[in-house]
Amino acid sequence: MDKKQENVLKGIAAAPGIAIAHAFLYAKEKESVSDDYVDNVEEALQNLDNALEQSKKELRKIFNLAVDKLGDKRAAIFEAQIMILDDPILINTIKERIKKEKKLPEFIVDDEISKYTRIMSASNEPYMKERSHDIEDIKNRIIRNLKKKKWKSKITSDVIVVTSNLSPSDTVLFSRVNVKGYVTDFGGLTSHAAIVARSLNIPAVVGLHEATNKIKDNDLLIVDGFHGQVYINPDEKHIAEYRKKIERLTQYDEELLKLRELPAQTLDGKEISLFANLDLSEEMTFIIHNCANGIGLVRTEQLFEEYEVFPDEDKQYEVYKEIAEQIYPKIVIVRAFDIGGDKVLPVDLHEPNPMLGWRGIRLLLDNPALFKTQIRAVLRASAHKNVWFMLPMISSLQEVINSKKLIEECKKELQKEGKTFDKHMPVGIMIEVPSAAVLTKEFAQEVQFLSIGTNDLIQYLLAVDRGNDIVSSQYQEFHPAVVRTLHHIITEAKKSNRIVSMCGEMAADPIAVPLLIGLGLDSLSLSAAGIPFHKKIIRSLKFEEMKKLAEECLQLNSEKEINQKLHEFFNNKIQDKIQNLY
Ligand code: PEP
Ligand code: MG
Repeated sequence: MDKKQENVLKGIAAAPGIAIAHAFLYAKEKESVSDDYVDNVEEALQNLDNALEQSKKELRKIFNLAVDKLGDKRAAIFEAQIMILDDPILINTIKERIKKEKKLPEFIVDDEISKYTRIMSASNEPYMKERSHDIEDIKNRIIRNLKKKKWKSKITSDVIVVTSNLSPSDTVLFSRVNVKGYVTDFGGLTSHAAIVARSLNIPAVVGLHEATNKIKDNDLLIVDGFHGQVYINPDEKHIAEYRKKIERLTQYDEELLKLRELPAQTLDGKEISLFANLDLSEEMTFIIHNCANGIGLVRTEQLFEEYEVFPDEDKQYEVYKEIAEQIYPKIVIVRAFDIGGDKVLPVDLHEPNPMLGWRGIRLLLDNPALFKTQIRAVLRASAHKNVWFMLPMISSLQEVINSKKLIEECKKELQKEGKTFDKHMPVGIMIEVPSAAVLTKEFAQEVQFLSIGTNDLIQYLLAVDRGNDIVSSQYQEFHPAVVRTLHHIITEAKKSNRIVSMCGEMAADPIAVPLLIGLGLDSLSLSAAGIPFHKKIIRSLKFEEMKKLAEECLQLNSEKEINQKLHEFFNNKIQDKIQNLY
């Protein structure tokens, strides 16, 4: 018998936990297209029509968004793509071939459209070469729509998905077939796929560079999501060691659950609120089970990721209302769509620098109809007065003023229509752009609450792309500039008597907890899975010692020193109690 060689790959620990299972290599770009025969030609033609219709629908959506902001000229590529889908010669040729050859539509589509792309990419004209990518895009879109249901069933359960890159929607879709872990070549700690993996409690290691090269389908893997390591075909001894760790983890989780109904209170009596972030409706069970004090962030753009178009007001209302009812009487903070950046939905505008581009509030204010639909839905869901509304990516006061105008407009409309809503629904903002951090005091006059989004705040403060593994070592939550900025925000917000919380991933980092509380935060929002452990940490510490720790950190000038100090503190006070699992 071949003894496979054990190999270890090191990457970024993106979601904690340990998984042992076989690898499933998922190659998104290289969708295999089989040339199988179809049993039923009529059905195949119908499938093709549906896929074309769906592709057009997606492209129309993209086109409308693109026209609005990028102007007709740049939006024209999408219009051209729609026209290709309507091209009678192409479509008829494909249909005739399906009828004649009786092969799967995806095979014929691939073969027929590839003829064009081959000619175009062989051209010496850069313009033609460029256009060949667009045509390739359409081809992939149609094939994806043709295969939509198939690939889901292709993936077997209980595997570890190994892929070059993972989108948030992949992460969700895979989780539905009980995937055990994720391993990717690219991606960073705060990429949305990583956040979703954490929310779903699925161990993940990202940014391994060579995972898809080194790992073969069906290799046995250990994913260590605590230390960012992946073992390929480990030996028996290693497997036994990790199985023991899993056992200890399970026992420890049971221990933690005993704290469920106790408050997150420090030894000297300061109570901290632990809210949950909600990205997927599936998380609601965890949120309730882990006794979160409320929901501190609903990423609405994630909730609706599966939808190809933005859902209408009634659909959104139903979803928000359901969440608000389930968490009642605790509160839920619904964040307006944060589209753009790394969260592109089905929209690809080819912006040169999307993280600095048309994102969050900018896109919403430029699309008042879209924004108002959401505002109305959120207002209607606020009837029981436990819904707060939060604006993402705020960088200037004017954006808040303009948003509030739209909210007032919506209230008037709803009032006229006789619909019930909370007239005093609190409105707040994310502090995730450095300009907003600097102007905390001024923003505090305009809104009722502030929530610090460290995922973006760190990226913009340090000029380090949050999703780029190449610079991930420079993405430092304990950079002195970050720590001092947090101090500034918290102090200014409190001076103005405003509620200030944190919903970025820093709030989920156990090592950061003593610092954050020491800096004065009395509420944190994180994925529900992390709440029991946070509670354990908080219940083991005194507020006074955390305050002192924070004061000391504020005096330090390097990330290394702050990091070291926080780790020492954590190791002394907490680590030994949890048997070095972290
Ligand atoms: C953040 O930026 O910290 C945040 C919570 O928002 P998101 O991760 O959705 O950008
Ligand atoms: Mg953000």
